Amino acid sequence: MADLIIRNGTVVDGTGAPPVAGDVEVTDGVITAVGAVDGTATREIDAEGLLVTPGFVDIHTHFDGQVTWDPVVAPSSLHGVTTIAMGNCGVGFAPAAPDRHAWLISLLEGVEDIPGTALTEGLTWNWESFPEYLDALAAMPHTVDMGAHVPHAALRTYVMGERGADHTEAPSEGEMAQMAQLVREAMAAGAIGFATSRTEIHRTSTGENIGTLTAGDAELLAIAEALRESGTGVVQLISDLYQTPDDAFAQQELDLLERFVRASGRPLSFTMQQAYHSPDRWRFQMDWVDRMVSAGLDVKAQVATRPIGVLLGLQATANPFLFCSSYAEIAPLPLAERVAALREPERKRRILEEHTQVASGLEPGIFRQIMCGFDVIFRLTDPVDYELHTDRSVAAQARSAGVEPISMVYDLLLHGDGEQLLYLPLFNFAHGDFEDLHDMITAPNVLFGLSDAGAHCGAICDASMTTSSLTVWSRDRRDGGRVPIEAIVHGNTQRNARHVGWLDRGVVAPGHVADLNVIDLDALACHPPTIVHDLPAGGRRLMQTASGYRFTVKSGEVTFEDGEHTGALPGGLLRGTNS
Ligand SMILES: [Zn+2]
Repeated sequence: MADLIIRNGTVVDGTGAPPVAGDVEVTDGVITAVGAVDGTATREIDAEGLLVTPGFVDIHTHFDGQVTWDPVVAPSSLHGVTTIAMGNCGVGFAPAAPDRHAWLISLLEGVEDIPGTALTEGLTWNWESFPEYLDALAAMPHTVDMGAHVPHAALRTYVMGERGADHTEAPSEGEMAQMAQLVREAMAAGAIGFATSRTEIHRTSTGENIGTLTAGDAELLAIAEALRESGTGVVQLISDLYQTPDDAFAQQELDLLERFVRASGRPLSFTMQQAYHSPDRWRFQMDWVDRMVSAGLDVKAQVATRPIGVLLGLQATANPFLFCSSYAEIAPLPLAERVAALREPERKRRILEEHTQVASGLEPGIFRQIMCGFDVIFRLTDPVDYELHTDRSVAAQARSAGVEPISMVYDLLLHGDGEQLLYLPLFNFAHGDFEDLHDMITAPNVLFGLSDAGAHCGAICDASMTTSSLTVWSRDRRDGGRVPIEAIVHGNTQRNARHVGWLDRGVVAPGHVADLNVIDLDALACHPPTIVHDLPAGGRRLMQTASGYRFTVKSGEVTFEDGEHTGALPGGLLRGTNS
């Protein structure tokens, strides 16, 4: 008798093939039959009218700290994710010399906006080397399977000490050899690859550039050689390719990536985003990716299926009034007192006046956008409408209501006793609609990624991109073309898994790991993110729930039923790949 049979579902199998009606049988954590299944099972689920998909594979998370104390791995696990990759963008907690703990925490606090107090209390540091970190993860069951890249920033400071955190310092020959040796050891112990960051945006909590920012050829090629020798794993990175309109810089970076791929012989993916100030730069990068692929190199662009969005709010990291002195003086107050103060008409008048003054002196950029990008600031409805268009922005709503946008934003932030959040797309929204994003996510050589789940705890909550990719692109889009559901499911499953080398998952077919979602597509919805204080030491993070995931199954066990964790923890550490 089988353990589980999901009957009468519409199977979207993850390969990109169109949906077909069928049953799915599971035994010992593995899919044993798909199609018309006879026989019986210990548990049967009626999936009449529901989709059956593989569990989702999120290759770009920053749960490196959280998974050491939290087995549930929300919010990702609430959005159909059954496998995650960590150590992305070159940041993580191993290897970690005993005297570098505080620095590593400041790195993750600065780069990824994860509260340092939560990390300080939550991390047990019962590891020093990367293999020991993997052992610590392996000792603890989770709802999802997880794999980790070797993070370059941690590796560099482990080997070079203080100098490793300074990007102007180059490692000696001996230090490069040691980094290469540690990468070989990490790969042998089960790392899924190597990750690094080359962006000015990534800074420690004290504002310093990341040590890997300008790591040169010699250092990177020594690491590439180690990857070649180990013959496994992927390379993931972020560079300022999208930041600068300077083609010469971008080309120089792309040339470096090409040398790295050729030297390592390993698949590489990098962050691709559309910035407001250089809306066509990603097309230039995409052309390069296509050329590399034509030349036989395994290069992919990681793209987000919706605009990476900063959430603005009184409890969030950012809101439009942060730089107004009449706001700053009450900013430290508890929320209820702050809301009461903000409701005084005189304070509102002063803050709006100061806002105009401060904003007029700001250069174009992220701060200006946060303060007055009203044509790209959106209300979060329930469910959240993730198909953005400037016609639905706060500015547009203020115009039709005949009020000033800033006044409307002020009042909106006081809704729900000050818990209201507003959504500001940072990337992939340069022309105020989704036309470019459609081209980006349907391009041939991309991976769906960049959720940054587990990070940016007070600013970004994109772990739900798996859910919104289905609702927006396959079901709801009204301003332009949709994307077939099989393509969206494929991007969230087999394509990501195959890139990493996890060939045992991401497909609903016999012999594959029984990671499955049973989804009521009509009911599928993202609810608005909220701020919760459930990290260690009462640390703050954004949380987001979904409706419509009737069942999530990990290795044959139901882990979530209608959004509730069943208590099952069948997930664990994935050592390396099975390619
Ligand atoms: Zn990242």
